[in-house]
Amino acid sequence: MRLYNTKTKPMKALQFTGNKTFDLQDVDLQPVAPGEVRLKVAYCGVCGTDVHIYHGAMAQRLTLPQVIGHEVSAEIDVVGEGVSGWQVGDRVTVRPLKPGQAMAVDNGVRHIGQNLKFIGIDTPGGMQQYWNVPANTLHRLPDNLPLTIGAMVEPLAVACHDVRLGEVKAGENVVIIGGGPIGMLIALVARQKGANVLISEVNEARLQLAESMGLATVNPKDTDLVAHVENFTKGAMADVVFEVSGVQAGVTTMTQLPRVRGRIVMVAIHAEPKAVDLFRFFWRELKLIGARVYEPEDFEEAIALAASEASTPGTLPLGALITQISPLADAKSVFETIDNNPAGMKYLLQCDL
Ligand SMILES: [Zn+2]
Repeated sequence: MRLYNTKTKPMKALQFTGNKTFDLQDVDLQPVAPGEVRLKVAYCGVCGTDVHIYHGAMAQRLTLPQVIGHEVSAEIDVVGEGVSGWQVGDRVTVRPLKPGQAMAVDNGVRHIGQNLKFIGIDTPGGMQQYWNVPANTLHRLPDNLPLTIGAMVEPLAVACHDVRLGEVKAGENVVIIGGGPIGMLIALVARQKGANVLISEVNEARLQLAESMGLATVNPKDTDLVAHVENFTKGAMADVVFEVSGVQAGVTTMTQLPRVRGRIVMVAIHAEPKAVDLFRFFWRELKLIGARVYEPEDFEEAIALAASEASTPGTLPLGALITQISPLADAKSVFETIDNNPAGMKYLLQCDL
């Protein structure tokens, strides 16, 4: 039974107002446009991108005050006109991309086209109780997948895309430079493909977490990384290196680790140009592969992998990556905690309180 007229029912929305401040406001529900659904948001993960926005990055893309956030699990609350295949109550996650008009330069690739809008940055995001999104962004969550894990599907889809573009195969040696949430997810997905995986990370708590999930680790502060990889791969060196650190040290190292004709996948966002040892590309005939966001098939793979954990525990322990779950009202302290806790992994905001 509905207690309110859906057009006027007040809801809570976490408005980012700039300068590291949020305001939890009572706002009106937005009318549901044709082709859209209204979601009742369960959880919204805090992405590294959200933390950058909190620090003032990408200000020109936002319209303040604005709700941010894009790592969501939800139930459908209202199905808009012209939407088929979805029903009220369906459990979903959102692929937060609006491709926009295709351009010649896009080369037919829809997920990173020139007119792409990222939902939760260029348009309002999911850190609110109810959120309207185009129905074509939805992916169904299986009934056995907890909604907390459902909020991990978006970052897991990033990892699936990175591993797919890196063409990781069973038996290959894979080195991941940087063990934050995305690096850790790449490691888990690559391991699930049958690769021999090593994570290089400087934070001891993150190294311990990786080890608790059965992943091999190395701290390049204490150990010569090149010698370690040589040893780890019995002299073969890496088939694939993922640069996820975003810092010069990672870029410097990434060319030293691959075998002849090895691949390097650029996952991190390097906002500034960095020095790269191009000689190594020539000398070992290396390949550099850029990988950005995801395509629908990466979401489907991520959901299948997340669901497989329910039948085979331990293969993809996404729950182990959730550091903290907090009510939406505590967002300010959550962002402050993230700033002060470099060991933290994934923080979720619970939006359906
Ligand atoms: Zn994200």
